Amino acid sequence: MIPAPDRAPNSWGLGDGQAIPWEYAPAPEARDIVTLKERYGLFINGRFVPATGGDTFVSIDPATEQPLARVARATPVDVDKAVRAARSAQKRTWGQLSGRERAKYLFRISRILQERSREFAVLESMDSGKPIKESRDVDVPLAASHFWYYAGWADKLDYAFPGRVARPLGVAAPIIPWNFPLLMLAWKIAPALAAGNTVVLKPASTTPLSALLFAEVCVQADLPPGTVNIITGPGEIGMALATHPQVDKVAFTGSTEIGKKIGRGVAGTDKALTLELGGKAANIVFDDAPLDQAIEGIVNGIYFNQGEVCCAGSRLLVQESIAETVIDKLKDRLSTIRVGDPLDKNTDVGAINSKNQLEKITELVASGVAEGADLYQPACDLPDRGYFFRPTLFTNVAQSHRIAREEIFGPVLSVLTFRTPDEAIEKANNTSYGLSAGVWTDKGSRILAMASRLQAGVVWANTFNRFDPTSPFGGYKESGFGREGGMHGLHAYVRLEDR
Ligand code: NDP
Repeated sequence: MIPAPDRAPNSWGLGDGQAIPWEYAPAPEARDIVTLKERYGLFINGRFVPATGGDTFVSIDPATEQPLARVARATPVDVDKAVRAARSAQKRTWGQLSGRERAKYLFRISRILQERSREFAVLESMDSGKPIKESRDVDVPLAASHFWYYAGWADKLDYAFPGRVARPLGVAAPIIPWNFPLLMLAWKIAPALAAGNTVVLKPASTTPLSALLFAEVCVQADLPPGTVNIITGPGEIGMALATHPQVDKVAFTGSTEIGKKIGRGVAGTDKALTLELGGKAANIVFDDAPLDQAIEGIVNGIYFNQGEVCCAGSRLLVQESIAETVIDKLKDRLSTIRVGDPLDKNTDVGAINSKNQLEKITELVASGVAEGADLYQPACDLPDRGYFFRPTLFTNVAQSHRIAREEIFGPVLSVLTFRTPDEAIEKANNTSYGLSAGVWTDKGSRILAMASRLQAGVVWANTFNRFDPTSPFGGYKESGFGREGGMHGLHAYVRLEDR
């Protein structure tokens, strides 16, 4: 069922408490473009194979709690096979190709992703819970454009690193999370292949299916066997992969806790490492900001992808003089957000990715209430089944509250206020993270002044959550190190030698 807010926003002029006079008709995207297999194997050396020992696990649809497919549960023996296949392809086939030839394959993959975009979008929404309009308009097009962008660099490494010779590192091991499964795959596989590396990738256990569909794309593109390998399995398998002696580069996106474990696991080796971890971004709104635009930016910043975004604008810092107006407008806007079936084209907030994540969000929201913050949630029905959470707004938040310090990774916004730019900087930087930030103001000089003082890898001005393959992304402090995207992202997959 698609829920609807039962009160009209004040801006509609119907008077507080009046029922919305109309209802959206359901607009479900057809699922039949996706052919789910009952079982998925590991993708090693160009073929799907069962895990050694034959164990499997189930991937479920978080919107219905129904199983989608059984997926092979890799063992360390499978990790070893995949890494050996990648090593062999790096030496014998992929690593021997010219940049121009590698580019052809990457362009081909990008084209296939575009051709099969609806299939990928529907599958991604089924497996992850994200709204179809986001997988269709953001995840899949961006994934295709990353392959397109890095295809362009594959034969131009001499121009990317003038005066140096760029050599591939060897075998790259991306370990990726569940919030943007296909996009995180593209962020890592595209630059790795462009630079001449081969890959063994481990997707998150709650969202393995788009990576396995991508394996089919590799076959369709006629990629030499072993160039890309996909192994599915629990966290220990991620660690077995990261610490495998023949892996040369580990690229991890996920929680700070696991990032630290991986850092310890590879310490003392000569493996290259990039870590893209959590965040607690400040979205700062000054009193001269275009308010209606800022409201859209705040909503996009925290409710996009159910707030399951490492760079989400989860702390709103609003100048005190306009706080009341901004909060009223936000509450008004929240009542128009539609929570429900991820495959409905009108849905703004889909399902939370897993039961665990829903429990984590619920627990942190309860802590906000217990610590004295004021909770606001719009009136909206949630579907009877599935992992759903209402868009949530906390006011009266103190810096010391857990909801102001910990990454919630859910549709929960904490509002704090400030009086001066110095106070805004002080509060924004008062976090162990440093991934992203937003500034809303009419003054260009203020944007530049704020951006230079904010400890965040990405600072958006009068917008939020904008991504582009040409632009580097990454963090400071406990948000990790290394950059993905752009030429910086290419640098992470090469060894530079003197001519
Ligand atoms: P994790 O960091 O546990 O998972 C990310 C990836 O790492 C998954 O592929 C996971 O596999 C794998 N992994 C898990 N344990 C290990 C290990 N010991 N060694 C190597 N790889 C491992 O994130 P969660 O899914 O548990 O989410 C927990 C919290 O992390 C969220 O609530 C959120 O705050 C944050 N998070 C941040 C993300 C970001 O983009 N910065 C993305 C996802 C989560 P598997 O799925 O099999 O466990």
